[in-house]
Amino acid sequence: MSNRVKPVDISLSPRVNSVKPSIVTSIAAHTIGLEQAGLPVIRLIKGEPDFNTPIMVAEAGINAIREDHTRYTLSGGTLQLRTAICNKLKEENGICYTHDEIVVSNGAKQCILQALLAVCSPGDEVLIPCPYWWSYLDMAKLADARPVILPTLSAENFLLDPELLDSKITENSRLLILCTPSNPTGSVYPKPLLERIAEIVAKHPKLLVLSDEIYEHIIYSPATHTSFASLPGMWDRTLTVNGFSKTFAMTGWRLGYIAGPKHFVEAINKLQSHITSGASSIAQKAGVAALGLGYAGGEVVSVMVKAFRERRDFLVKSFNELQGITVSEPQGAFYLFIDFSSYYGIEAEDFGKIENSESLCRYILEKAQVALVPGIAFGDDSCIRISYAASLTTLQAAFERIKKALISLRPAVPV
Ligand code: PMP
Repeated sequence: MSNRVKPVDISLSPRVNSVKPSIVTSIAAHTIGLEQAGLPVIRLIKGEPDFNTPIMVAEAGINAIREDHTRYTLSGGTLQLRTAICNKLKEENGICYTHDEIVVSNGAKQCILQALLAVCSPGDEVLIPCPYWWSYLDMAKLADARPVILPTLSAENFLLDPELLDSKITENSRLLILCTPSNPTGSVYPKPLLERIAEIVAKHPKLLVLSDEIYEHIIYSPATHTSFASLPGMWDRTLTVNGFSKTFAMTGWRLGYIAGPKHFVEAINKLQSHITSGASSIAQKAGVAALGLGYAGGEVVSVMVKAFRERRDFLVKSFNELQGITVSEPQGAFYLFIDFSSYYGIEAEDFGKIENSESLCRYILEKAQVALVPGIAFGDDSCIRISYAASLTTLQAAFERIKKALISLRPAVPV
């Protein structure tokens, strides 16, 4: 027998092979390449507030370490934090839960994956309005479910058409994912539209709704947030996801939660007990402090929202002055999702043809040194996402650079 070492089998599971690497990873790599070559790139890619975690919240985390809150907590989260979440959901969202109907996780992202793993069986369909936050699609696949895309129109503020939903529901439909305010579009679902969606959902006993409300407080009046679970008959079939990353600028603390009927949430907790044993004890103490800041995050959060609004107003006004672009005013989150397709098909000097959202982003990155995310990452190739989680001065500089790069694509047209 030969002693030669046989090569290692490097095959991967079909589960891994079913998901795509994030397109943002390749933009980030391109950005780093330009930065290493000495070019100052403005990054407007991330879904992350540019503010620091409020000091009172950070102090609570530091004190948690000082006071030795450094051990495993209950898998579903400390009773202190879950009680604070129950109070928050009741007061701010009009939905009542007990602590065993809440699971705290390492971010809303983990909540969503665990929810899909807990409720979907192979062959089940997950209905996802498009444009979508990219992870929904891959998470559905990881749960052996089949994503069913529900297209929306920019002319209708990217809001789901209830009739389209009605026509797409089959006996395999298990979960509808709603995200309001939306990443990537910033659209906010008005209550009457949610009520119409609820009427349709109510006809299908198998269909649940995952309501991703992580941007709920980044909302611009007069728009208001409605929790899907608060609508008549919807509590029993809704899993409400929320978190601390966006409202409290706590992305790195990794803290989010899901609320829903006990049988679903217990199943989610069972999975979590085998996956992470629960969120960080330190982050959970900080989470209690964050919820203690007051209704909707109090003054600290309203200062951030005011800044986001100012930036949104600046960008909407500026981009609307560009030829071939129409931007409607998003009512929430910190993104603009702009249709740039009138620039597709143009041959750019020293670059080649602008074919789609990916090549336009590459062009803007190379010519203007501004990093943006192609709409194709969110299922809509006509658009590009601009995150305005950056200072007004940075956004002003970014806009000037983008404008210059776009003018050079259409030198004959006044902008
Ligand atoms: N949902 C949406 C729509 C998001 O944009 C994000 C973060 N980009 C998340 C969930 C996950 O947030 P986290 O895991 O940081 O709580």
